[in-house]
Amino acid sequence: MAEPAGGAAPVKVAVVGAGNVGATYAYALLLSGLAAEIVLINRNRDHAEGEAMDLTHAAPFTGPTRIWAGGYDDCAGAALTVLTAGAPQGDSDSRLDLVERNGAIFAEIVPEVVRHNPDGLLLVASNPVDVLTYAVWKQSGLPRSRVIGSGTILDTARLRALLGQHVGVDPQAVEARVIGEHGDSQVPVWSLAAVAGIPLTVFGNATGVATDAATLEEIASQTRKAGPAVAERKGATYYGVAAGLVRITEAVLRDEHAVLTVSTVVDGYQGVDDVALSVPCVVGRSGIERTVALPLSDAEAAAFRRSADVLREAIGQLPSV
Ligand code: NAD
Repeated sequence: MAEPAGGAAPVKVAVVGAGNVGATYAYALLLSGLAAEIVLINRNRDHAEGEAMDLTHAAPFTGPTRIWAGGYDDCAGAALTVLTAGAPQGDSDSRLDLVERNGAIFAEIVPEVVRHNPDGLLLVASNPVDVLTYAVWKQSGLPRSRVIGSGTILDTARLRALLGQHVGVDPQAVEARVIGEHGDSQVPVWSLAAVAGIPLTVFGNATGVATDAATLEEIASQTRKAGPAVAERKGATYYGVAAGLVRITEAVLRDEHAVLTVSTVVDGYQGVDDVALSVPCVVGRSGIERTVALPLSDAEAAAFRRSADVLREAIGQLPSV
């Protein structure tokens, strides 16, 4: 694997898929200054070249980052390869509709990436992200620690943003997580939600902010439906996920041991095995170092297991696993 920032080798990040998500991620990564080299790989090479040229014209305002359009051989030495290729979700009813189309695309891509870069980490963003994270783990032969799905890092951000608005504080002071599927069966962990370290209901009682079940379900529903709500207005979502992908990239390149809610192939989490879904994970240079067990309520634990069942069924629809 390439050396982290500050080491001898320049930090390279490869991005497969230079569409909305891939190009926005590359732009956010460029602004972050975390990578010395960014290579964009796309089925339509002209498009990747156009994005690379446009991004290169931004580099004088940011820092010395080399950006180019390449092939799979350019994944060699990348610390991280971010997989964003696929069919756009549009206003499709469910991300699971994309299983077959994107499963077939990934069956082409993953062996190529791993052949040229057997030592790097893979970060999956394409949907359905949990199903594809599982497929990438199977297809790549990599240890589960080196395959990360963006999972509910985005839903967690959406929940914190909405909850922050509701209680009238900066979302960074809101502790709340969404676990399970990046999709309809996701589970907001209300029992552990807090504002400035104060349990949410205690905060609500003290301040007069509503935290009754109906209010929280309305916030959970808006979180769950946020992707389609954006897509029906502007066709796609990409800023939120791109920022989440940069946050994961930062945790890896800086070896932060950050606790992020990302998708991983679990092995006995809340009794769930052999499926990828989101739980809090410690993320550093080697990828997912470990998961963090949450003391869920009985209802949350049951909902988490139902979410795993939904995903297990979707994995069964994959063309090649
Ligand atoms: P897009 O259509 O703008 O971009 C997809 C790109 O992939 C296109 O440029 C296409 O040419 C390329 N591509 C297709 N097949 C390829 C292949 N075999 N090899 C290389 N490149 C290939 O779509 P988008 O809006 O960028 O979305 C990309 C994916 O990200 C979708 O699956 C979408 O559902 C997903 N997404 C995920 C999240 C999340 O939170 N995980 C959020 C938003 C979008």
